[in-house]
Amino acid sequence: MLLNFFKQYFVLDDTDNDSHHSSRFRISALRILLSVSLLAILGFTSSSLIEFDASDESVLFVSLGILYTLIVALLLIVSRRFHEFAAIALASLIAVTGALFIGFSNTNDGVEFGVIALYSLPLIVRLFYSFKASLCFSIANIATLGIDLYLAQSQDFKTGSGTLYMQLMLFALLNFGLPLSVSRLLKTLQMSIDSHKELAENINHQSELYEEIFEHTGTPTLLCDKRGVVLKLNQKALDLFPNVSADTIEGTKINDWIASTSDASSRFFWQKNVSECVLKSNSKNFLEVHRSSLTTHGHYVLHLQDITHLRALTEELETTQQTNSRLAHFDSLTRLPNHQNFCNQVNHRIRNVSDYYTGAMFIIRISQFKLLNKQYGREQSNKVILNFSRTLQARLSDKTISGRLRGVKFACFMPVGQTYLIQRNLRTLIKSVLPEQIRIGEDILNIDYQIGVAYYQNEGETAEELLERCEMALEYSTSAERIAFFDQQLEAKLIQEHKLGLALGDAIKNKQIQIWLQPQVVSSGEIRSFEALARWRLDDGSYVSPIVFIRLAEELGLLPKLAENLLKQLVSVLEAWHQESIKTPIAFNLAGQELMNDVFFALLMSMTSERPWLSEMLELEITETSPVMTNPLIHKRLRALSQYGYSIAIDDFGTGQASMGQLIDIPANILKIDRRFVAPLPDDKRHLDIVKSTIQLARSLNMSVIAEGIETREQANLLISLGCDTLQGYYFGKPSPISDWTENNNEKAKQLRMVY
Ligand code: C2E
Ligand code: CA
Ligand code: CA
Repeated sequence: MLLNFFKQYFVLDDTDNDSHHSSRFRISALRILLSVSLLAILGFTSSSLIEFDASDESVLFVSLGILYTLIVALLLIVSRRFHEFAAIALASLIAVTGALFIGFSNTNDGVEFGVIALYSLPLIVRLFYSFKASLCFSIANIATLGIDLYLAQSQDFKTGSGTLYMQLMLFALLNFGLPLSVSRLLKTLQMSIDSHKELAENINHQSELYEEIFEHTGTPTLLCDKRGVVLKLNQKALDLFPNVSADTIEGTKINDWIASTSDASSRFFWQKNVSECVLKSNSKNFLEVHRSSLTTHGHYVLHLQDITHLRALTEELETTQQTNSRLAHFDSLTRLPNHQNFCNQVNHRIRNVSDYYTGAMFIIRISQFKLLNKQYGREQSNKVILNFSRTLQARLSDKTISGRLRGVKFACFMPVGQTYLIQRNLRTLIKSVLPEQIRIGEDILNIDYQIGVAYYQNEGETAEELLERCEMALEYSTSAERIAFFDQQLEAKLIQEHKLGLALGDAIKNKQIQIWLQPQVVSSGEIRSFEALARWRLDDGSYVSPIVFIRLAEELGLLPKLAENLLKQLVSVLEAWHQESIKTPIAFNLAGQELMNDVFFALLMSMTSERPWLSEMLELEITETSPVMTNPLIHKRLRALSQYGYSIAIDDFGTGQASMGQLIDIPANILKIDRRFVAPLPDDKRHLDIVKSTIQLARSLNMSVIAEGIETREQANLLISLGCDTLQGYYFGKPSPISDWTENNNEKAKQLRMVY
């Protein structure tokens, strides 16, 4: 305890090595000096008091002793706070004392004490001040030495050469030896203090830099030891843990705050290069922990990356990809596999079954769906499709693969056993799975289908092949038999038709289809008009029936082009006839598609406007062979043509192709009785009645009547007697090439009489 007191009192405990290092050292030295001085003075004063004899000298010594004691004690007291002042005071005190002793002492010892006191000044000054200040005192002390030597010689003190040397040595030692060595010591100390300081500053700077780097890594970073105890974390890392202070986290384990998502069991998941984690306080907050480096202390630097947003994005991306893949492979309405996906599934099945596997592929087309669309709207019709697909799926076995090809076409592929290789049985099976009625709102609809069937493996070995065969079969499904099976002949027929279609295209392009004329005569036998009939002669000399090639052209969309060619042929003949004043009209057949076609209609209209006589010479025969005839646009165009003066004849009346409704909608002025009703005449009573009533109907509507297909005189006479205006048939004349009528400058056309 006492030791501690002294240590503290003399400022010896250098525990805090701060920047006041040198001043502490000085205070310490000052206190030691003052304390030692005080002890010496106290010793001197007490010895003076013991030897006190009331002499002047004794009184002076005692008073000086007390004065010095007080001064030194005072200096000791203020030395801590005013050490610089105390140091100056001490040096001054020593200087004054030294000078006094030299000046006033009459003893050799007194002078020597004074000299030593002055000699001690350089060292003391050096302790508190600079080397230069100390040197000044050393130099000043040369004077002291001079005085000392002078006094030693002038006074009758006993002196010898030994004493001189002693004096010189003492001078040199105290004024230069000790101050210089102490200076050297202090200098070394100062240097080491300086270098320490520099080092410390350097270290401080470095550590600040590291701190700064750590703080500003840009990513949330934390430092932890081998066991996962968090040593330090930067602000960004702290931000990841809301409402928690750094102090709370530092010193705790990482595992207290975050948990691995992949291997929850591993306590040292953070030692892996990268691991995905969640915050323990919020499991929706995802982090990625990157172990960046192992520091030299065996610590780990961990970078935490908030990947919550990234994860959400990834998840979103995955769902989008799933949706896309669904869109790419499934029909959006029925969720059935689409065409491609259906084929893939079927092909996959076919590849993985035994050689003895048999299956049936069939395409189902819902009939008259366009009508349904028109009547109920798209949305309701979609419900029908959906309802149909659900019923179908529910009724089909799990082993059946089904898909929606497009629109109202669905495809199914089912494994079938021997029994169903018999077409009749498969028909019954297919019928049993098709819903016959579908509810749409309040209404219950009867649904009709067309179905094309092909067997695996006989009729195709891949899904694509089978589907193609089903499509072919589908073409041959009829209203009487909805389910059509593919067979090889059918294929041959289709191929032939395809070839014929190609040839027809060429024939139309090369204008190889010709017009023949068949006369229409009045009761007197005079030719009233002609009917233009198309003829296609093949290279081998055979003719293709117009019934065949007109339907084919219609299917291939070639009819307008064909009609355009025929119309031009016809108009050129009529042009010639007009010039020759041959006023016999020619009837031209229109199936509907021609009139729907803007180019054809425009041609007809422009020809009409260029030739005002044309509407008198050209008659139009229309048949409702195709559904387009019910189109309002056709009615509109026919009305326009009628206004231009064209005669319009309704062909094949009574066959079901033309209807009563048409008679009212279309501004027709001629009714043609079909050959089917004329042929059985005159014997067939029923047909006779039909013909009679048709003629009556025409009369009441103010229309004239043409009877077709008259082959006998009886038929001709009968129809004339019934009031038929015009007659047409082989009996009067078969269709023959135009040239028959135009050769020799239209010789025959001018006669206008048939030889019969
Ligand atoms: P369609 O308009 O009813 O033509 C009358 C058909 O009856 C013609 O057959 C004609 O040759 C035939 N015919 C006339 N009189 C008799 C007869 O006494 N006995 C028999 N057995 N047949 C007779 P074709 O020329 O074979 O034409 C068939 C159908 O082809 C036409 O029926 C018509 O619908 C269509 N067609 C012909 N040429 C054209 C055309 O240029 N354009 C359009 N759109 N259709 C045409
Ligand atoms: Ca006709
Ligand atoms: Ca006809």
